[in-house]
Parts: sequence; structure tokens; C-alpha cells
Amino acid sequence: MGILDDFRLDGRLAVVTGASRGIGAAIAIALAEAGADVVGIARRMPQHGDETGAAVRAAGRQFTGVAADLADDAGIAAALASIADLGRPVDILINNAGIAERSRAEDHTDAQWASVLAVNLTAPFALARELGRGMLERGRGRIVFIASMTTFQGGTNVVSYTAAKSAVAGVVHALANEWAGRGVGVNAIAPGYIETELTMGRDGNPERVAAQLPRIPFGRWGRPDDIAGAAVFLSSDASAYVHGVVIPVDGGWLVR
Ligand code: NAP
Repeated sequence: MGILDDFRLDGRLAVVTGASRGIGAAIAIALAEAGADVVGIARRMPQHGDETGAAVRAAGRQFTGVAADLADDAGIAAALASIADLGRPVDILINNAGIAERSRAEDHTDAQWASVLAVNLTAPFALARELGRGMLERGRGRIVFIASMTTFQGGTNVVSYTAAKSAVAGVVHALANEWAGRGVGVNAIAPGYIETELTMGRDGNPERVAAQLPRIPFGRWGRPDDIAGAAVFLSSDASAYVHGVVIPVDGGWLVR
């Protein structure tokens, strides 16, 4: 067994939230290429899977699609019930699903605040708690949260998003502190500016891309695939001694 074998995920089961597009889809496919079967969750997700499911199967792995709205307790419970129905232990949780509500802080409504905190903070913690319990019983598991540059910086016109993503770092620190010694690794990835529906809308946004570009030392926006390597690393035995970190994958944005 060499070091590259430590990156393999053969026979493991990964739950990826927000797997239908963007960063979550790229991570789900990468985990499958590394050997994992995948449960992909999104609000719109056929059970046989969507494009992500097809790519996972093309990699020779199983894909189970779960349609659930993680914004509310009932949706989280339904997702957990569907996972339990598989009768298979979950080895990896990727807490990726996220939303942003844009408006100036003074105009940010209670509804915007509540929905962003629900999807970006409450659901990830609830899933980590519920799936983490089984991991603790088995003494093995890896959990990866998706943080953000707003975990470290204020952002503009996304105060609820910044609050949630900053709190994600606290949850990661707390869980790692309690669980590292019990075989469960908890960490986060903080993507920089990645071209997805979240940042671009459905129609792309050339002005936004051009505006951020000078601030990115690498010289281009990120693509969802840029996050895949860190996700495989943090999901695998190669990161066995890595606990409670938030790894920026940002083309150098933070050190600019
Ligand atoms: P995206 O393209 O909009 O994808 C979001 C995914 O989450 C979709 O699969 C979406 O599917 C799912 N989702 C959204 N709300 C949900 C809900 N209530 N219940 C279940 N699933 C839900 O966004 P992305 O850019 O890939 O973002 C993925 C993660 O990376 C998020 O946590 C985001 O905050 C983070 N991030 C992104 C960037 C970036 O530049 N793109 C930077 C830093 C961090 P449905 O709509 O079908 O539910």
C-alpha cells in the first residue's frame, strides 16, 4: 500500500448535498472516480439520478438520488430516512448544498436571514450530527463542510451568507475537537470565486467575472473541478491526521 492508495475510496458510501450541479456535482463525480458510491441530495433530484448520477455510474459506481429540501426539519428528516433505507453505513458526508440571498445589510429581511441560515448552517450541522453518530459508533468517518471566502472576510450584500459561512468554521472546530480522537475527521473547504449558478445566475455574468479577476492571483475564476482534489483528500485516509481545518481553494484570493 503506497500513499496513492490512501486517497482511494473504494467500497465507501458518500452523501453529497447539493449534488445536482456546480461544486457538489464535481465533488460527487470525483469521489466516485476515487471509488465511492454516492447518495446525492438536492431539491430537484430524480431517484435514478440526473447528470451527476450518469457520470457516477459511468465511473462504475452506484448513485442514489434523494429529493429533499434541506431548508426545513421535515426535509432533513426525509433525507435521513432515505439514507437509512439503503441499509448501508455512511462513510463520508459532504455538506455542500448552499444558497445566497443578496441585498444590502440594512434591507436584509428576516426571511432571507432564516432561509440562508437554515440551508447553510442548520442543515449541515443536523446532517453531521445524525450521520456522525453512526461514524462515531464505527470509529471511522470523514465530514467535509463547504465554507467560503466569507468565512474569513465580510463579503458585500450577503450578510446572512457571511454569518452562516463564518459559523461553519466554528462548527468544524467544535466537531473536530470532540470527534478527532474518536475516528471521525471534520474539516472544511473554502472555495474562492467559482463559476456556478450561485455566482453567475443561470445566464452567466461576464461583468461579475471581469470585476473579480484582477483580485485573483491565479488569473482566472475557479471551476467546480478545482474543488475536487481537496474534497477527495479530505474524504480519504490521506488526510487521517487533518482535523478542524478550513482549506482555502481560491487561486490565491486570500493572500492578495
Ligand atoms: P449551485 O450551483 O447553486 O448549487 C447548489 C446546490 O445546492 C444545488 O445542487 C441545489 O439543488 C442544492 N440546494 C440548494 N438549496 C437546497 C435546499 N434547500 N435543499 C437541498 N439542496 C439544495 O451552488 P455552488 O456554487 O455549487 O455552491 C455549492 C456550495 O459551495 C455552497 O455551499 C456555496 O455556498 C459554496 N460556495 C460556492 C462558491 C462559488 O463561488 N460558487 C464560493 C464559496 C462557497 P436544488 O436547487 O435542486 O435544490
